[in-house]
Amino acid sequence: MAELLNTLSLRGSTRLLVMQPTAFCNINCDYCYLPHRNDREVMSIETVRRAAEFVFGAGLNAPDFTIVWHAGEPLVVSPSWYRRAITAFQQAAPADVSIPHAIQTNGMLIDDEWCDLFVETGMRVGVSLDGTARLHDARRKTRSGKGTHASVMRGIDFLRRRGVPFHIICVVGRATLDAADELMDFFEAEDIRNVGFNIEEIEGSVQTSTLEEEGSAGAFKRFFARTLDRARAANPPVLIREREDLLACLQSPAFGYFRYNSQNAPFGIVTVSTKGELFTFSPELAGLVDDTFGDFSIGNLADATLDSMLVSPTFRAMWRRIDAGVSKCKESCAYFNLCMGGAPVNKLFENKTFESTETMFCKLAHQAVADVVLAEIERDIASVPYSSGSRVPEAMG
Ligand code: SF4
Repeated sequence: MAELLNTLSLRGSTRLLVMQPTAFCNINCDYCYLPHRNDREVMSIETVRRAAEFVFGAGLNAPDFTIVWHAGEPLVVSPSWYRRAITAFQQAAPADVSIPHAIQTNGMLIDDEWCDLFVETGMRVGVSLDGTARLHDARRKTRSGKGTHASVMRGIDFLRRRGVPFHIICVVGRATLDAADELMDFFEAEDIRNVGFNIEEIEGSVQTSTLEEEGSAGAFKRFFARTLDRARAANPPVLIREREDLLACLQSPAFGYFRYNSQNAPFGIVTVSTKGELFTFSPELAGLVDDTFGDFSIGNLADATLDSMLVSPTFRAMWRRIDAGVSKCKESCAYFNLCMGGAPVNKLFENKTFESTETMFCKLAHQAVADVVLAEIERDIASVPYSSGSRVPEAMG
């Protein structure tokens, strides 16, 4: 049964605040699910200030709290806007709290002026790049249908010249699965050493994925296993986010005791839209619509309080169903301790209900990734030579 929540129990719950400075995007990728990417409205600094006061006023910020600026393309807003927004957050934050900022960009607009901001603020930069020009340009296109790879690589050159650390988010579709070596040759040649893979998902108006094709799960495992082998063999190695996250989960003292992940825990992630609408659970829900949950908004910064959001019919209806879905996962899935019940947005848009378990997304992004990383760990353990001097721990009890 959905846990009863109150303002006290939610203190320290929010690990990620997703801020949408604009819904507008300057390009038009084939797999984009953002419905308002033609809307040029920019978030007001007053809305930023209200978001900061809401989060810090309610004490929602977790010890590893981060703000990410994302969705549509955050660099269509000016660097000076970000300076004012970051100042607004600093002014609202408790004196002893330093707030890390991150930004996820398509990289097309990065120049020296943006690098000045990244250096000055220590913002973590993620660039969306789907690998080589052949793979990337097939899906990441301008509004007139031209490939964007060359422009993104120009942006990455600015980051490299200015010494700005960055990571890559690479969307994996069916065509990527046969191209592990092409991808890793490219990342190594470009000295790209930090990569995360997002799978091509089914969300909102995007109702199909090339990964639904027969045989994708096996192909994904082969792709991911080869990618991990290449990443380890590279000098210096390429960090693969999925492996790092899974190892961190296994090494956590709380492993096996986690009940939820950030996407299915109430207020684990809070998303603020350009207009100040508030969302929780999967950030992709912001901007989507559904017959049962409307636009998924649980309030607006203009007048909402944490108390009013907790009693809002949309929040209560979502939480009850999401929690029931997590319980079903816990009862039925051998991967629960690594995945903690999956992503609500994928359950809703693939299975038509939050109150469900397996999705294409989880079979690839959680189950297949876990199978490959655990097999790698087992191989590593088996390759450690047995020493006759090793002491076998005495049995307990
Ligand atoms: S892997 Fe899928 S079925 Fe298993 S816990 Fe995660 S979401 Fe649920």
